[in-house]
Order: sequence, then C-alpha cells, then structure tokens
Amino acid sequence: MNPQTTDILDTFGRPLKSLRLSVTDRCNLRCKYCMPEEEYAWLPRETLLSFEEMCALTELFTELGVDKVRLTGGEPLLRKDLSTLIRMLLENPRIKDLALTTNGILLAEQAEGFHAAGLHRVTVSLDTLKPKRFTALTRRDGHDKVLAGIDAVARLGFRSLKLDTVAMRGFNDDELADLIEYGKGVGAEVRFIEYMDVGGATDWSMDKVFSRAAILERLSQRYGPIEPIMELSSAPAQRFVLPDGTTFGIIPSTTAPFCAACDRSRLTGDGMWYLCLYAKDGLDLRGPLRAGSPAERIKALIRSVWQGRQDRGAEERKELEQVGARGKLIGVDKLREDPHLEMHARGG
Ligand code: SAM
Ligand code: SF4
Ligand code: SF4
Repeated sequence: MNPQTTDILDTFGRPLKSLRLSVTDRCNLRCKYCMPEEEYAWLPRETLLSFEEMCALTELFTELGVDKVRLTGGEPLLRKDLSTLIRMLLENPRIKDLALTTNGILLAEQAEGFHAAGLHRVTVSLDTLKPKRFTALTRRDGHDKVLAGIDAVARLGFRSLKLDTVAMRGFNDDELADLIEYGKGVGAEVRFIEYMDVGGATDWSMDKVFSRAAILERLSQRYGPIEPIMELSSAPAQRFVLPDGTTFGIIPSTTAPFCAACDRSRLTGDGMWYLCLYAKDGLDLRGPLRAGSPAERIKALIRSVWQGRQDRGAEERKELEQVGARGKLIGVDKLREDPHLEMHARGG
C-alpha cells in the first residue's frame, strides 16, 4: 500500500492533518475550568467505540492526510488497556506522531507500558505546584501522583514531554515562572494556555483570563527580555525563549486565536466527529461504521465535510467582544441534553 496521500483542504485552505481521539468522556478530576458542575450526563457506555473501531476510523482519516494523532479525553488513562490501543494505532505507518494528553493521576503506573508500546510524546496538564491549590482546582487529591507520573515519563525518555498549564488570573498567575523552573528540572517544555470559554467552562469569565500579554509581562519581570521564536507551524502554541535559552509556549486561544492555521479535528469516544473545539454539531461516524458502510463511502463523507469546513470558533468568540456579547458558550441545561458539547467529551 502506498502511504502517500494528497492533502484535502477546507474552505480556507487548511489541510486535514491532526486528529484528537477522545477515548473516554469520564474523568477522575473535576477541574473548575472544565468540569465545574456537581453532576454530569455521560455518553452511554454501549456507544463508546471499541479499539478496533477507533483504529478503523483513524485509518480512514490517515488515508485522507492525517499524520498526527493525539489521545485525549476525559482522562484517557481511565480507558482500560490504553497501551493496546497505542500498539494497534502504531501498526498504521501513516501515523508519524502519536501523542497523549493526560492529567497524570494514573501516569506513574502506566508510563512504562506506553513507552514499550511505542507512544511518541506525552503532555501532562499541570496547573500548580501547590498540592492545596491542586485540590481546590480539581476538587480531588492526587497532586503527588501527578508529579510522580511526570517523573516516570521524564525517566523513560519519550520523544518529548510537555506540561500544559491553564493560566488563570488570581489562581496560578503567581506560579508561572516556578512552573517553568520545575519544567527545566524534568526536561519538559511548559505551555501556558489561556482560559477558554469552551463548552463546559460554565465558570468562565473574561476577568479570569490571564492573557498572553499578561503572561509575557509577568515572566519578563522575573527573567528579563523574552524573545519570540519564529517558526512556521500549525501547532497552537507560540514559542518564546528566555535569556538563558529556556523555551516555553503560549496558546493564546482567547485573546489572539490562531484558527487560520488550524488543521485539527476531534473524534469523541462514541464516534462523533467535530471540526472545531467550539462546534455545536458533529458528524456521526459510528453509525455508518457499525452499519457496515463501505470504507470508501465513509471516507467520501469525511472528505466532503472537511472540504466544506468553515469553522473558526475562537475567532468568532473574539469578535463577540466588540459587541460586548462574550460570555459562557453554552448553558448547563443544554450541556445536560447533549454531553458532546462538553470539553471533556471532545478533548482539549
Ligand atoms: N484529562 C486530560 C487532561 O486534563 O490533560 C485530557 C483532556 S483535557 C480536556 C485536555 C486539556 O484541556 C487540558 O490540558 C486542560 O487543561 C485543557 N482545558 C480544559 N478546559 C479548559 C478551558 N476552559 N480553557 C483552557 N484549557 C482547558
Ligand atoms: Fe481536568 Fe482534563 Fe478532567 Fe477536564 S478532562 S476535568 S481538564 S483532568
Ligand atoms: Fe481550530 Fe476551532 Fe480552535 Fe479555531 S477554535 S483553532 S478552528 S479548533
């Protein structure tokens, strides 16, 4: 089989390159920026894709140009035998980059299996170095487990280890430099993510967003001049370098969105395909797959939907500011009716 593919482009000329595969919508934390509610409606278990089904759909995406896959959730490590899925996916030679985003709670016990299975890169979400803050933010204990998970990954030597930090005004904006220092110690690049008004972020308000400008100002107070790194990339993070050569990233989705270069789409654990983090509607791929629809037909569907893609959700959210209409994306009632609208269902 010839692994070459021709990129398919959406209406803005963006190729289909990167797929986020949410393997479960369940989570063992309740981060306030993602799952602030007391109760949630979950995707019915029988609708969750099996590993075989995930690989079959991923195969179609890779035949259409996807070469980067990221496993996410919910918390992906809650899905039993995730190493098996990693092995199965890597049988597909078109996948050049297989990464995982995790909250780290179960990482120390599973990292070795992931490494042995061939996983390329790991991103751990780490918002604070203070255990009490961690508990206040996530409404669960386990900060020590997250740090142990990061250590385990650092020792094993994956292609890369990144730490993702949601920067929130009044919560962790005093820890940004400490997180960079911690990252240096474990060989990880830190990426600061602006707090986003995504589905599920029902506590979001603009005054809690610690913006890219504020992050850079705060860090330059500690480190001195910070230089941007010029690189051509579809990656959401803009990278910067400190005077001592340490690099870090900022994902300014809220104040300076980067939709123009977005080659990402998302598949939920039950096989709904979303073209944007902010998209309210998705395409059901589980239905045709389970109904035995021929691969070529499903591929044609994916191709035509991508070619019609006009999504630029974060930019549209930003535009709402001009008319003073930026607030929560979706109310709790709507989220209960359709859990696919939740960030924890479609992955970050
Ligand atoms: N549970 C895993 C984790 O936390 O790493 C993977 C799924 S989580 C939805 C993926 C990423 O989305 C995490 O890094 C998390 O911090 C980020 N995230 C969730 N809600 C967010 C929000 N409202 N604004 C910015 N980032 C958010
Ligand atoms: Fe936190 Fe990730 Fe769970 Fe959301 S899915 S509550 S970000 S750990
Ligand atoms: Fe891509 Fe949508 Fe995020 Fe913009 S808001 S970068 S189009 S996923």
